[in-house]
Amino acid sequence: MREQTLDVSNHQRLAGLGQRVLAGGRLDRDEALFLFHLENSADIFDLIGWANRVREHFKGNKIHLCSIVNAKAGACSENCSFCAQSSAYQTGSPKYGFVDPEPVLAAAEEAKKNGVTAVGLVAAWKGLKEGPMLDEVCDRIRELKAGGQTRPDASLGIIKSQAVADRLKEAGLECYGHNLESSRRFFPQTCSTHSYEDRVETIGYLKKAGLKICSGGIIGMGETREDRCDLALSLRELGASVVPINILNPIPGTPFEKNPPLAPLEILKTIACFRLLLPRQEIMIAGGRTVNLRDLQSMVFTAGASALMVGNYLTTLNQSVEKDLQMLKDLGLDPNWENHDFADQQEDSCGCEKEHCETEAAPV
Ligand code: SF4
Repeated sequence: MREQTLDVSNHQRLAGLGQRVLAGGRLDRDEALFLFHLENSADIFDLIGWANRVREHFKGNKIHLCSIVNAKAGACSENCSFCAQSSAYQTGSPKYGFVDPEPVLAAAEEAKKNGVTAVGLVAAWKGLKEGPMLDEVCDRIRELKAGGQTRPDASLGIIKSQAVADRLKEAGLECYGHNLESSRRFFPQTCSTHSYEDRVETIGYLKKAGLKICSGGIIGMGETREDRCDLALSLRELGASVVPINILNPIPGTPFEKNPPLAPLEILKTIACFRLLLPRQEIMIAGGRTVNLRDLQSMVFTAGASALMVGNYLTTLNQSVEKDLQMLKDLGLDPNWENHDFADQQEDSCGCEKEHCETEAAPV
């Protein structure tokens, strides 16, 4: 039987680590692994308590909302084992070419109405090169920017040249989504048509162009806790501003269709670990939350999440935006974050809005 009483030595160690993060310090890999390997539910709730404090300290009660538009669907040349849009698998997901302006602008208008800060154009293809398609993508970004409704973001796959990243920035793009998916060690088990290094290199071009990076991964693909820990550490190293955590929703027809689901408490613990490792970043809960967490969805915020993907995902449905907004209201959280420009991620900022900031008093 699992021990459910609080382990005093773990309690003290967690308090020391939590206070250090609150005071602006960082955790090393051994400390991070200790968090990821916590088993006892009392310890996990202790960790969640610290993650909530850290979120409140750096983010106040603000929650950053994002939504996405599937700008080019299906028939992707890549073989990512979790993906309904790969041409390698029979999944019945929709297929269409790059979208016209209307659906993008309609999505931005809808997003604005719901208080969503950013709309991301997402395309199911290997990547983007110079040529007519890049021109068309830049047109959509410019239209989105000119509409002024939301921050234009995009997730357009692998980039192999600085010129492409620079063109996207010039068109008005602010943030580019490109997940590492998992640890370097586990990545080859998720995809063989491109490499982890291709992804890291893409992020390098984007950063050099001055774009903010939205990069995270998927949990529940069969990776270990150590893989999740190393993913979080790599994202810290790469300087991601937004860190989406997706929870595998096994799609029939894909190689991961029979993957067993992660226990909800393991998911919440993972979110809490990410918050302690990435205290100032947006930890965003993306795909798979409804199907994997069910009634526990609202706990993602106490576990440290500060951002939420709302509206439908690329190939699966989400709960309604109205329900999400009600959930935030019930928790006293505020999604109305006009022009979120990541200023709260600067080293000298925190979102606690208290007259006497706790970080000054917290022992390291
Ligand atoms: S995750 Fe992206 S690159 Fe991989 S198969 Fe799906 S659409 Fe293609």
